[in-house]
Amino acid sequence: MIIFGLRASNIGSVSVEQSSCSYCQNTATQNITQFGKYFHIFWIPVFPVGKSTFSECVHCKRTIRKKEFSPELKNTYEGSKSQIKRPLWHWAGLIILGLLFAAVSILSTIQ
Ligand SMILES: [Zn+2]
Repeated sequence: MIIFGLRASNIGSVSVEQSSCSYCQNTATQNITQFGKYFHIFWIPVFPVGKSTFSECVHCKRTIRKKEFSPELKNTYEGSKSQIKRPLWHWAGLIILGLLFAAVSILSTIQ
């Protein structure tokens, strides 16, 4: 039974219209999707540990990694990556821990 490890979730995507595909050579929409990886304990996300970015061609369904992006695709990604934000729940474990510590320190000052 795995009680801790790494998981990933889809944290957002950007569509690039009229972009040429390096595989099928067609001008089609490329969907850039970003996955946020996080460390989990008992499936509760504790903290983020990096991101993976992929692009899928809607024409040939070929998926490429960020390092294989064409300069054009890379430019669009760099320009629009601020739209993709990691959700707060990827920090859930640290937030819960922080709240616990805050509660304990507040309680200890009252007594
Ligand atoms: Zn293609």
